[in-house]
Amino acid sequence: MEKIKMTTPLVEMDGDEMTRIIWQWIKDILITPYVDLKSEYYDLSLKNRDATDDKVTLDSAYATSKHGVAVKCATITPNAQRLTEYSLKKLYPSPNATIRAILDGTVFRSPIIVEGITPYIPNWKAPIVIARHAYGDLYKSVEARCEAGQVAKLVIEDTKTKKEAVIHNFTDTDGIVMAMHNTDKSIFAFARSCFNYALDKKLNIWFSTKDTISKTYDHRFKDIFADLYKKEYEAKFKTAGIWYEYTLIDDMVARVIRSDGGFIWACKNYDGDVMSDMVATAFGSLAMMTSVLVSPDGTFEYEAAHGTVTRHYYKYLLGETTSTNSCATIFAWSGALKKRGELDGLADLVKFAEAIEVATLDTIRAGVMTGDLVAMFKRDGVVVRKVDTKEFLEEIAKNLKF
Ligand code: NAP
Ligand code: MG
Repeated sequence: MEKIKMTTPLVEMDGDEMTRIIWQWIKDILITPYVDLKSEYYDLSLKNRDATDDKVTLDSAYATSKHGVAVKCATITPNAQRLTEYSLKKLYPSPNATIRAILDGTVFRSPIIVEGITPYIPNWKAPIVIARHAYGDLYKSVEARCEAGQVAKLVIEDTKTKKEAVIHNFTDTDGIVMAMHNTDKSIFAFARSCFNYALDKKLNIWFSTKDTISKTYDHRFKDIFADLYKKEYEAKFKTAGIWYEYTLIDDMVARVIRSDGGFIWACKNYDGDVMSDMVATAFGSLAMMTSVLVSPDGTFEYEAAHGTVTRHYYKYLLGETTSTNSCATIFAWSGALKKRGELDGLADLVKFAEAIEVATLDTIRAGVMTGDLVAMFKRDGVVVRKVDTKEFLEEIAKNLKF
């Protein structure tokens, strides 16, 4: 059989620990036997980030802007313990934060739904897509500790004007202070990607913040969404038979739990971080959540929503069998290959990417799965067989039809 050809390189961002092992196996077992893989490879392992003073992360993000589509493996965000473990020169920022700051845009996270796995919230029948703003707020904040007797102020100035506001007067106790920001440009881009995604997927969309308390900051988000919707999207939404609504985040949480799913929930950066893990877990497993960063200039970075699965990696290093779920990483690859195929007009690449997803779901549906899914799987007449990390990929390969 002749391998499927690619025309533009896919930006490949390799990562760390168990997901790095899975990464290579996915390529070896599910992709390179069938596709003449054209990728521009960046090694984002912590070791190589340290060796390149994190330049490799920046380079990979710029390559994504250039080529348009990237696939990223989970990476370690170093903390004090990793600093010693890897003898790092310094504490590097999270690669995801670095990449998102360069590409801007919105992260769309959507659960992978498969018959046999019932969500913890049984009324959730259709996916809830979390649209997470990928720039600013807590992730670009400036923090400081204050001592008793100090005053923390917010100062905004240019050459002619100066505005000052007291944040807190720490009269008799030490404390902490934080300042964060966002930009109208990024919020507009966030709103635009959300509305475009809703139109593309024909899904209703909710946006929620805490604007009753945050009367300037969160309110700005609410206003920008409302303005853009009114000016450019309301008519298009009507034609598509979908709608946009804003509500307070506390009200939204209640609505989400009572809903039957099938909508987009747009969240500010931190809310999206937390809520996507909550939604993924309730739908089954963190490993059953796809994630794609869509930038305002139309570039796409596909990744898994979970981390490097450290606990499994240490077992793997000891030679023990692991049963790590590779679904999210497989779907990152299939999503990226499909998008590359769509952009380059390669119908056979699109078809192949879709076939990988079908084969993955067919494998689980037939009762073959990794340990994390076993306890929650139930389908009449289907006997469950728990497989190890590599076997799972080999079983998918057997089901691959295209
Ligand atoms: P994690 O890697 O997501 O794993 C947490 C736990 O969730 C695992 O121990 C495992 O539970 C379960 N799990 C997650 N993914 C799984 C999978 N594919 N298959 C089966 N079980 C899975 O999160 P973490 O342990 O908090 O973080 C580990 C490292 O990942 C950290 O260094 C962190 O910086 C990094 N991280 C990276 C990203 C990213 O690159 N996008 C995101 C988050 C965290 P059991 O142990 O109970 O089996
Ligand atoms: Mg998170």
